[in-house]
Order: sequence, then structure tokens, then C-alpha cells
Amino acid sequence: MSYITSFIIITLLVIIAYMGYQLYIRNIHYKYKADKMDDLEQNYENKIQNLESTISSLNKTAYTHTVTKIGNIDYFINRCSSYFERFPDSVFTMIGFSISNLGKINQFFGPSEGDKVMIYTADTLRNSIRGSVAYAHVNSNLFGILLRDTTEEEIMEIVETITAKLKDYSPTFAVTAVFGIYCINRDHVGDSLMDIMNYTLLAQKAVKDPKTANYAYFTEDLIRTYNENKKMSTEMEEALDSHKFIVYLQPMVDLHSYHIVSAEALVRWDYPGKGILSPYAFLPLFENTSLIQKLDYYMWEECCKVIRRWIDNKMTPLPISMNISPLHLQSTAFIDKLEQLMHSYLISKDLLVLELPERGVANARKEVSEIIMKLKERGFSLCIDNFGSVHSPLNLLKDYPIERIKLDRSFLMRNSSSNEGLTILRYLIAMAKELNLTVITEGVESLQQANFLSDIGCDIAQGYFFAKPLDVRHFDQLNKSMLRNLYRPSEYYPTFEDFEKDVDILTQMMQRVG
Ligand code: C2E
Ligand code: MG
Repeated sequence: MSYITSFIIITLLVIIAYMGYQLYIRNIHYKYKADKMDDLEQNYENKIQNLESTISSLNKTAYTHTVTKIGNIDYFINRCSSYFERFPDSVFTMIGFSISNLGKINQFFGPSEGDKVMIYTADTLRNSIRGSVAYAHVNSNLFGILLRDTTEEEIMEIVETITAKLKDYSPTFAVTAVFGIYCINRDHVGDSLMDIMNYTLLAQKAVKDPKTANYAYFTEDLIRTYNENKKMSTEMEEALDSHKFIVYLQPMVDLHSYHIVSAEALVRWDYPGKGILSPYAFLPLFENTSLIQKLDYYMWEECCKVIRRWIDNKMTPLPISMNISPLHLQSTAFIDKLEQLMHSYLISKDLLVLELPERGVANARKEVSEIIMKLKERGFSLCIDNFGSVHSPLNLLKDYPIERIKLDRSFLMRNSSSNEGLTILRYLIAMAKELNLTVITEGVESLQQANFLSDIGCDIAQGYFFAKPLDVRHFDQLNKSMLRNLYRPSEYYPTFEDFEKDVDILTQMMQRVG
């Protein structure tokens, strides 16, 4: 082999080796790349899976009620809308129901017991209700059930099942519910699900006596009432400006001298076309809104004006008791407002008594007691109003710096018919006297009641037996005559229907506890 041939062979071998090496390197590179791709792909898939599960759990959270873990309002809207679309020829029925004594349960046993009741109610829907298209915990105290092509018997069966299950909740207290039922009218084109839910709420409000029937069907008449109420709410501000709210005064009478010693200011609305409206016709509409605060401010100012006029006319001014809505007891702002008014009208604090409703101060949060203490520090006279209406919170008498208690009318009614009741009343009054409290009894309607109260040491009485609430002019006339000839109203005034409903619920609960 020549030198040149050897050189060519060696060069070829080197080239082949180099190419083999390159191929090998590339192979490794590709393999590395392929592995990397696999890893990336895997990683990517994992990430997508994670994302999907996050989205699904977010969705679940977004559509689940935080406390009861069943569908919430958004879930309900979606689900109902899709059913309405899918079954345009079906007849749907919406049931809305609320736990009617949830407020009392929260008040008596604490909010955590209230939550337990709601969870139990949700479980009842989950486990016991068959044939519903959807059910949900729509808002704090409203559950919704949508039914498709259901008979009236089936609807009643659902109402009865839930009612019975709720009864089983506790051996110590009752859990009650009220149901509003709306057979959805497809002619109401454009009604949103919230409109539909509102119709069930209107039906719930139409339940008159939950002991006889705890459900009501929606009727078109209810819409009229609903619209009237809405109109009233919007008219209120205007009515305040044009002084359509009037102060009525109801005398409080000393049970020994039969002289008027004080008066309670009670609001009336001179409503165009309807005459003088009782607070029961409009206060519930305003009660949980800032409107009630505006109304109270207005009333307090009107009371200051009345007292100012008495002083300016050289009449002996009488202390006026003013109702303080529980909503004020959330901040101290109203105390400054009261002081400002007294300052502007040059009225001393002993001429205004603040009536704090029992429901606003019993079992109240710490902040409420601090506000009460502050009122006392600033020299206001305090009275617990409607004492005995929900329960008789005897601890209030020792914990709060109050000077007066006003026994609720229902307390007198419930107790004056039985010996046992009269004994409780006697002891309650004796104890209040022991604590140096002035006792006023509200709702005295007969001479017999007045005499009995006087005998057991009650100081002051208020009630139709003496006088119904009067406008200031008639009140002044009555005061001048000093009740020499006993004044008795010929007609009866607003009933306590709403309030008595609450008392009944409580009585039921207490009976169960007993
Ligand atoms: P309340 O503070 O317990 O006032 C007593 C209610 O009992 C008054 O009803 C009065 O007319 C009624 N009443 C008094 N004696 C008798 C009686 O012998 N028999 C009967 N059947 N009723 C009697 P009214 O004036 O309808 O007021 C109802 C409630 O409205 C008041 O209850 C009070 O909670 C609220 N209210 C009235 N005015 C105001 C106000 O200016 N501000 C606030 N926040 N609430 C007010
Ligand atoms: Mg009062």
C-alpha cells in the first residue's frame, strides 16, 4: 500500500469517526431534548390539572353558601335560569322560606346556635326534599326551592316535611319556619329571579297565623301592597321636610294622685288621602334603614320644640319620654345630636327621658353597654321600654344605670289573668322598687288594672284607661283639666297584632324550655 493510499484510508477513517461522533452527540442532544419535552409536557399537564381543579374549587366556592355549604344565590340563579330555558312549557313553582324565630334563637342561645339551625335546615333540604329542580340558601335567612310541574299536594308535602324536620331539631326549643309559595306566572315577562324570590317573600309576609298555616300563596294583590310600601319609603324624606310627621303625646299618670306626670312621644304620619297613620303602618318599613334614625332625630327635635313652647308659655313643662330605635345604639353619634338639640332649645336633661327598647339592650354586645354607660355619664335619664316583652332580663336591672322600667302592655295582659302571673308582677315590681327604680306600666285599660297596680306599688301608669295618644293641643287641654273627670277614649286604637305574634313565638319557645 502506498503512502498516499494509507493517508486516504486514515483520513476517511477520521472523517467516519468524526461523523459517528457528531451523530452520537446529536442523538444525545435529541434524547435530552425529547426527555426535556416530556418533562415539560408532564409539567404542563400537571399545571393544567392544577388550574382546572383550582377553577373548579373556586367555582364551587363561588356557588356555595359559606355557612351551610349548599348552593348560594348565584348557583340558584344559574340553575333556575337554565331550567326555565330548557323547559319553556313547564309550570314552575318557587318556594321561599325563612326561619321565623332565628332572631330569637340568636338572641337566646347565641349566633353559633343560629348557624347550627341554618346548617340543619340546609341538610334537611339536601336529604329530605325529593323532586326539586334546585334548592339553595339564597341569603342570610332565606332558602329557595324551585319545583317543576308539581301538584299542590306535592308542594304541601314539601312544606310539611320541612316543618316537621325543623320541629325535631331540639327538644328544648322550637324552630319555626314561614313559607311563601309562588306558582310562576309566565305572563310576567321580564321578571328576574330576584323578582320571583321577592314574590315569595311577599307571600311569606301574608302569613297571618303561623300556628294555623305557616305558608301562603302569592297573589297579585300582594304586588299592590308591595308597591305601596315602596312608594311610602320614598315619600318619607319628603314628608319629613314638609312636617307631615306629627308628635302625639300619651300621658303617664301618677297612680296615687291621678295627675299627669310625664308623657310619651309617639309618632303619627298625616298621610295624604289616608289620614293619620299609626307607626305600625310605616315603622316596620323604616326600621332597618337609616330612615328610622332620621325620623327619630325629627321626633326628638319636635319634642324639644314642645317643651320649649311650654316653658315660653309659662306652663310647667312635663318630662317627655322619647323612643330610641335600637339602630342608634350602634354608635355614640346620636348622643352628640341629642346634646346639640338640648343646647339649641335650652332644655335641661331632666325634661327628656330616653326609652331604650328591651330588644335593643337585652343580651346586647359590649359596645351597647358602653353607650348606655356614656348616656348615663352625660346625665340622661334612661328607661327600659317594653320590659317583659321578650323576656324579663332581670340582670339588666343591676347591670345598667337605669332609673325606670316600663312594663310592656303584653306583660300586663298575659299575667293579669292568672294568680301566678299576678304574683310574678308583684315580685317584679317589689324588686324594681328595692333597686330604687320607678316602675311604669303600659297598656292599662281598666280601673281594675289601675287599682291593682297601685296596690302592688307601681308608681306610674300609661294606657287607654287614662288617655290614648293625643296631639299636643288636646294633650295640653287634658293636662289643664288634670284628669279631674277621668278621660276615656271611645274608640280603640292600633292593635299589637305584629308584636303579639312575636310574643306567641316566644311563649311557645319558653313552654318547650319548661
Ligand atoms: P311603645 O314605645 O311601646 O309605645 C306604646 C304603644 O302602646 C303606643 O302605640 C301606644 O299607643 C300603645 N298603647 C298605650 N296604651 C295602650 C292601651 O291601653 N291599649 C293598647 N291597645 N295600646 C296602648 P303606638 O303609638 O302605635 O306606637 C307603637 C310603637 O311604635 C311604640 O311602642 C314604639 O316602639 C314605636 N314608636 C312610636 N313612635 C316612635 C318614634 O318616634 N320613634 C321610634 N323609634 N319608635 C316609635
Ligand atoms: Mg315607648
